[in-house]
Amino acid sequence: MSAPVEPAAVEPAAGTGPHGSIQLIESACTSCMICARECPSWCITIDSHTEPIADLPAGTRERTQNVLDHFAIDWSLCMYCGICVDECPFDALEWVSEHTVAAASLVDLTHGRAELAPRSGSGPAPRPGLDAGRA
Ligand code: SF4
Ligand code: SF4
Repeated sequence: MSAPVEPAAVEPAAGTGPHGSIQLIESACTSCMICARECPSWCITIDSHTEPIADLPAGTRERTQNVLDHFAIDWSLCMYCGICVDECPFDALEWVSEHTVAAASLVDLTHGRAELAPRSGSGPAPRPGLDAGRA
């Protein structure tokens, strides 16, 4: 009698795995505010300012670009619906498998740019107020 065959593990494609939490790719974010406007829970807050674009070709009229100052998700309000990820026109928001972990207070469930930044290692996001010093 032959041994049972184990099904091969299938790695999900990037962005299609478990919806644990969301990370922000700042280099792709244009501060367009679409995610904040489309979020049904109003749990995304964004602040930005404009700066002139440097090093434009001679003779080009002055142009400005948005510079991100603040980006945060309040996980105590988030429904994990994924609308922000789907609506971002620049793929600056991505699902990651790591879940947002418990925090000591509701305030600590609002994660800013540091907590939303892509992490190279696995594991949960650092907990503000609880994991001081974690990258
Ligand atoms: S997953 Fe849904 S509720 Fe959560 S931040 Fe995105 S749009 Fe808002
Ligand atoms: S929709 Fe995307 S590019 Fe626009 S502010 Fe949100 S994360 Fe940034």
